[in-house]
Amino acid sequence: MKTNILGTMIDNITKDYALKTLLTFINSEKTHTIYTPNAEICMEAYKNKEFQKALNEGSLVIPDGQGVVLASKILKTPLTEKVAGFKLILSLFESKNPVSIYLFGSKPEVIEKAVSIIKNKYSEITIVGYRNGYFEESDIPLIISDINKSKAQFLLVGLGAPKQELFIHKYKTSLFCNVIMGVGGSIDVIANEVKRVPEVFITLSLEWFYRLIMQPKRLKRMLNIPIFLLICIKKRLFK
Ligand code: UDP
Repeated sequence: MKTNILGTMIDNITKDYALKTLLTFINSEKTHTIYTPNAEICMEAYKNKEFQKALNEGSLVIPDGQGVVLASKILKTPLTEKVAGFKLILSLFESKNPVSIYLFGSKPEVIEKAVSIIKNKYSEITIVGYRNGYFEESDIPLIISDINKSKAQFLLVGLGAPKQELFIHKYKTSLFCNVIMGVGGSIDVIANEVKRVPEVFITLSLEWFYRLIMQPKRLKRMLNIPIFLLICIKKRLFK
């Protein structure tokens, strides 16, 4: 079932259901897309209808943050729980299901590091290709052909939002992978370039605060979160 968060339709699911669905997608023949909007991304989608349309056409759209869960409660259509995209990827890697993946995104040295960490840590995961996320428009045909030649079941696209979602939306019919997922900065986290948020901050719902002190350049983007919540409150009061 979908929950409407200011026009972005988010699947009301649990972490277990998300993993089961991801595994079903990986083993099916059709191409599926997975997006992981948080509050910042929902706010961006509220302002950018082309981006919102792309998100709404995703096969699975998961609530990646407490901000989205809070918004759903304000709007009186509560989502069951937060389902973090990064944790979904980790749970797939740890599930010991054999999966072939292609990693696309992040800086050249970071992706090399992520590839070597995955190879060492998860023997069931086969990396059939990878490419950094810095490219020109004219490189895209070659990127698509490299991904398709790899025959990866699962393509992880980490270009940041909304770039990755718009890329996936535009090229999904040219890509032959079973699942294409927008993974934001997850490749950086796998490569240990960006520290994972400590559990204590997650428990206290202060993940955003940890991110802010570690990456102060996010401040401008994060100022959108209170605005987003205020719009939800206004909607609840005046609908
Ligand atoms: N990135 C990229 N190509 C670009 C812009 C960004 O590959 O043209 C990568 C960047 O190196 C980082 C990720 O995209 O790995 C963005 O991470 P961020 O945490 O900002 O993602 P978000 O918060 O949007 O999920």
